[in-house]
Amino acid sequence: MVEKTVVILGATGSIGIQTLDVIKKLKGYKVTGVVFGQNKKLGEKIVKEYNVNFYYSQVLSNVSSIEELLEKTTPDIVVAAIPGFNGVISTFQAIKFTKRLALATKEALVCAGPLLKKACKDVELIPVDSEHSAIFQIFDENVEKILITASGGAIREYDNIENLTPKEILKHPVWNMGQKITVDSSTMINKAFEVIEAYELFELDTIDVLIHPTGTVHGAVFLKDGTVKIHFGFPDMKIPISYALTYPKRMYINLNWPEFKGENFIFTEVSEEKYPAFFYGKKIIKDLAKRVAFNAADEVAVNMFLESKIKFHNISKIVIDTCEKINGKIRDLEDVFEVDKLARQIANNF
Ligand code: NAD
Ligand code: MG
Repeated sequence: MVEKTVVILGATGSIGIQTLDVIKKLKGYKVTGVVFGQNKKLGEKIVKEYNVNFYYSQVLSNVSSIEELLEKTTPDIVVAAIPGFNGVISTFQAIKFTKRLALATKEALVCAGPLLKKACKDVELIPVDSEHSAIFQIFDENVEKILITASGGAIREYDNIENLTPKEILKHPVWNMGQKITVDSSTMINKAFEVIEAYELFELDTIDVLIHPTGTVHGAVFLKDGTVKIHFGFPDMKIPISYALTYPKRMYINLNWPEFKGENFIFTEVSEEKYPAFFYGKKIIKDLAKRVAFNAADEVAVNMFLESKIKFHNISKIVIDTCEKINGKIRDLEDVFEVDKLARQIANNF
């Protein structure tokens, strides 16, 4: 059987590990390269178990850079799953050497959507983010409006959020994910990223968000003739990951569906008081410089929160205040780097 080759950027993370699990179950896919950060033990284990040809990190490598790894492997598919601004850089490196970008790193579309889409002219861009995979699967030319759902994160049930600790925030009610995105779910800054991601992918600005605690409806599209198509299934990242790998086919087998009733169809409005940065993010979807600042300030603030240097509610405050100070026009990646750097300085001085 002809094998499709896959490189995973962020192989030891939540998305990376689940991608490896999916590939183990699919026939005809081979991991030829992995990139990861500091997690040497797990990285070594993956390299052995999957018989990976090329690997790169600061602690374990047989090539000198991510670019060299990509050049040596020229894989059919790159799964981009490094979080934050480092993920943006590696995503841009990847598209020079592959035919398909399976994109988990939503930060790349947030910080550089128009540039990434332009650079992907000859590369298929398939979303891995569950809501966007859902919309991608049900989208057609008659769509007027998109709905994506949100869990509300760890603070959904709390009224007083000011003094919540990193430990409390890192317990996500629906998904088991990396630290950064788990904190971003609690502020719903992740959902603001996702509204921007949807705006870039589907080129519509009519995007609604509702809180949906069971996470079983991932998204819906509202068509011009009055039809609503919804995407329903368990919140399990292996499903969108496998779709991004095997599209347009569905080759992953998982005979397990949620019950079609009651609580799996409960939706409520997002509270502006609880999630101020989400509403701010929705307002700046067309302002690329502010989007870069939004991402940069969030990265700085989330790190400060995880190190217990700031209180939870200050994450949103730092992000909004930083964006308010940034104005400008982004023409190329250099501009993105410049605004990113400036926004980090502003956020760090908070
Ligand atoms: P994670 O923290 O679990 O894993 C991150 C991976 O990237 C690890 O392998 C880590 O070693 C590697 N990494 C980090 N910094 C690196 C660097 N500088 N160089 C090389 N490797 C580096 O993160 P995650 O939850 O898997 O999320 C990855 C991306 O996918 C994020 O952009 C996130 O927003 C997106 N995403 C995640 C989920 C999810 O369910 N986890 C869902 C949708 C989207
Ligand atoms: Mg998502």
